Amino acid sequence: TRYVFRFGGGVSDGGRGDRNLLGGKGANLAEMASIGLPVPPGFTISTEMCARYYEEGERFPDSLRDEVRDGLAHIEAVTGKRFGDPADPLLVSVRSGARVSMPGMMDTVLNLGLNDQTVEGLAATSGDERFAWDSYRRFVQMYADVVLGLDHDRFEEALEEAKEDRGYFLDTDMGADDWRQVVAAYKEIVEADWGKPFPQDVHDQLWGAVGAVFGSWQSERAKVYRRLNDIPGSWGTAVNVQAMVFGNMGDTSATGVAFTRDPSTGEHAYYGEWLVNAQGEDVVAGIRTPQYLTRAAREKAAAKPLSMEEAMPETYGELARVFDLLEQHYRDMQDIEFTVERGHLWMLQTRSGKRTASAALKIAVDMAEEGLISREEAVARVDAAALDQLLHPTLDPDAPRDVLTKGLPASPGAASGAVVFTADEAEKRAERDEAVILVRIETSPEDIHGMHAAKGILTARGGMTSHAAVVARGMGRPCVSGAGALAIDAKSKILRVRDRTLREGDIITIDGASGEVMAGAVATVQPELAGDFGTLMGWADEVRRLKVRTNAETPADCRTARRFGAEGIGLCRTEHMFFEAERITAVRSMILADTPQGRKAALARLLPEQRRDFAEIFEVMAGLPVTIRLLDPPLHEFLPTKDSDFAEVAAAMDVSVDKLKQRAGELHEFNPMLGHRGVRLGITYPEIYAMQARAIFEAAVDVAQRTGEAPIPEVMIPLVATRRELELMRAQVDKAAAAVFAETGRTLDYLVGTMIELPRAALMAGDIAGAADFFSFGTNDLTQTAIGISRDDAARFLQTYVEQGIFARDPFVSLDVEGVGQLIEIAAERGRGTKPGLKLGICGEHGGDPTSIAFCEQVGLDYVSASPYRVPIARLAAAQAAL
Ligand code: PEP
Ligand code: MG
Repeated sequence: TRYVFRFGGGVSDGGRGDRNLLGGKGANLAEMASIGLPVPPGFTISTEMCARYYEEGERFPDSLRDEVRDGLAHIEAVTGKRFGDPADPLLVSVRSGARVSMPGMMDTVLNLGLNDQTVEGLAATSGDERFAWDSYRRFVQMYADVVLGLDHDRFEEALEEAKEDRGYFLDTDMGADDWRQVVAAYKEIVEADWGKPFPQDVHDQLWGAVGAVFGSWQSERAKVYRRLNDIPGSWGTAVNVQAMVFGNMGDTSATGVAFTRDPSTGEHAYYGEWLVNAQGEDVVAGIRTPQYLTRAAREKAAAKPLSMEEAMPETYGELARVFDLLEQHYRDMQDIEFTVERGHLWMLQTRSGKRTASAALKIAVDMAEEGLISREEAVARVDAAALDQLLHPTLDPDAPRDVLTKGLPASPGAASGAVVFTADEAEKRAERDEAVILVRIETSPEDIHGMHAAKGILTARGGMTSHAAVVARGMGRPCVSGAGALAIDAKSKILRVRDRTLREGDIITIDGASGEVMAGAVATVQPELAGDFGTLMGWADEVRRLKVRTNAETPADCRTARRFGAEGIGLCRTEHMFFEAERITAVRSMILADTPQGRKAALARLLPEQRRDFAEIFEVMAGLPVTIRLLDPPLHEFLPTKDSDFAEVAAAMDVSVDKLKQRAGELHEFNPMLGHRGVRLGITYPEIYAMQARAIFEAAVDVAQRTGEAPIPEVMIPLVATRRELELMRAQVDKAAAAVFAETGRTLDYLVGTMIELPRAALMAGDIAGAADFFSFGTNDLTQTAIGISRDDAARFLQTYVEQGIFARDPFVSLDVEGVGQLIEIAAERGRGTKPGLKLGICGEHGGDPTSIAFCEQVGLDYVSASPYRVPIARLAAAQAAL
């Protein structure tokens, strides 16, 4: 097997199709080189070596040494420099690059190849002694940190001390001799802390760095990132070794990062940041605040320092041409790193840029309208799950705001929450369901768990491409970065803004679209669903086959769902209607009655209430199918627990509290989820379902008469395991319908069907279908009963199951396709075997999960049903599944 692949200088051993083997960075470097863009020559050690490295106990096979030697020879041939040459040394960078980008999660070493001899050669060839020694001290520090694992602070302190001794304030005040002395001090620290002198052999340096990059694949922060982003540990990272180019060789040199379109808004304009006389890491790390790339952006922000467009018009023009070329070539928005070395432009990276959900939407729609991609591609490109971010409220423009300060609008959306200063505190409070805003001077990859736990992120330092901004956009968290007026004292847990002081726990609001930071919570408004959102949804609707319904039981939820495009109700859970304060006493009287007469009396009080519930829903859902499920939960969930409740029910029923308590005791169940619930209620207390069925038909007839539009009721029986159960209940429903039709002189169409949520029902679906007009898969209970994991208790151990890879994802969130999925396939096939036109749907939580929806498409269900806010996600996911 070959492990080393070259690029640059007219050679490309790989290309964009090789991302699995070469990692995203390596594949795209090879691709850029192959289309003639200026890429410093280098080579990629493949991800396969990463796997082998770990298999063989973190050692490299001997054959790799030969391959790396050839790779170095390639770089030497192209650059005309030699690695380790004291007169004119080749320096290289060593960077990680996995299949998918993991921003800031893994290690990088720059300026590798410097030692006490080569530094003199670099000084001579560059004609800049200060630059050479500055590069050397950067290298020693980075190498000590990344490869040797020494304490970063020791070096920072030594540097601060050196500046203080000289009365300097800035790094730029330091001269060649000053840096020479800092290098000497650094080398002493290495020898003291590591026990050996800093490695002078350039090949030792290289192997150390390659090992460190592979090693960083298993770092804690990389593991956390992979878990949050569903990235398998088996993928591994590649290592890219590439000739160094220098953005820090004076005022004709620069470095920058750019997006071909705005990653926050999606606007079709170059968007980026750059720094004159700096190395790449300076921009990303947020150490110096970078400048705007374009004149328009600078003017809009009323910033002083010149944009690259103004300061280096010629090179900028060249860069802009490369942007256009890359976007056309990749047919997607690109995220680009570049360096200008003494006026010469070099491309260091390109990749599809991470973007916010609203930018993804705009870019997809714009590109389709520009003719760069097709409408189907546009539909395929927007991450359905990320739409969630667009559907939630934004700050009410008319609400009063107590603005504390303004930073950069780094990731849109608004969030209010309690101020916390550490990632751990954020996580702790989030576990208690508290909304928090993580406030940091700047974030680092160590903060990732806290960023995930927080509702929003606020930093005092760093630009739009800082770690905080990039990660927040990826996670869909609102973020304001670089709010320079904030004085953060994390130790004392105090935040000062001018004359205001806030403490941990104080509520603030951030607006990631404007950059505003406000004291207190600010009111919000519903999002706009027209525009690009409406356009893309329209395209999605053209390609999808699956219908999308909603799970809703209040008129308000029904209205929200219709606004989001629901095509009916797939599940109306009637029990939620029984918990209302005015009704609960009647419900309890019904349950605790020990005779059918007692039950009937209580049910008579509930009938008009249920009729009103259904009429309201039928009106909102005019002309659409409405699936109403008859009562499902274990009766004991309705039992009183407080003495005052017992007293109230006793009075209503005219019995003693003691008698009532005794009756409640009799109803106690040890395993209520598998107990007296679902159709079992209908079988034992037929009056309940009879009342509900009557309420449904009375309401339907009433609405049909009043509005002229007949509703389409679909009456659904829960937790059926046998055909006989369904037959008995169906007879009840038909009887109620016939009675109501006779009384009112009006008939309408309706269906009677069942949920399939028990393994026996799935297996016996061929039989059950004989009595059903439709099946709706209740995958919450089906998952619970098929795997035998209690849906109410799973949270305690499922996380561990997911971490250990027993389940790829929580099976209550994303359908266990290979296991539970089989039951669905069997039921669908056997059900349709009996009744070819049998209508099939899904109404468990999985109906709103994109991966599960793809499965539903594959099995050929007719519809999915999701909670109102997930309806647009389901529409898009259904379209993507159909493509
Ligand atoms: C189900 O079990 O999947 C379902 C939709 O019903 P519920 O969640 O109400 O049990
Ligand atoms: Mg259920």
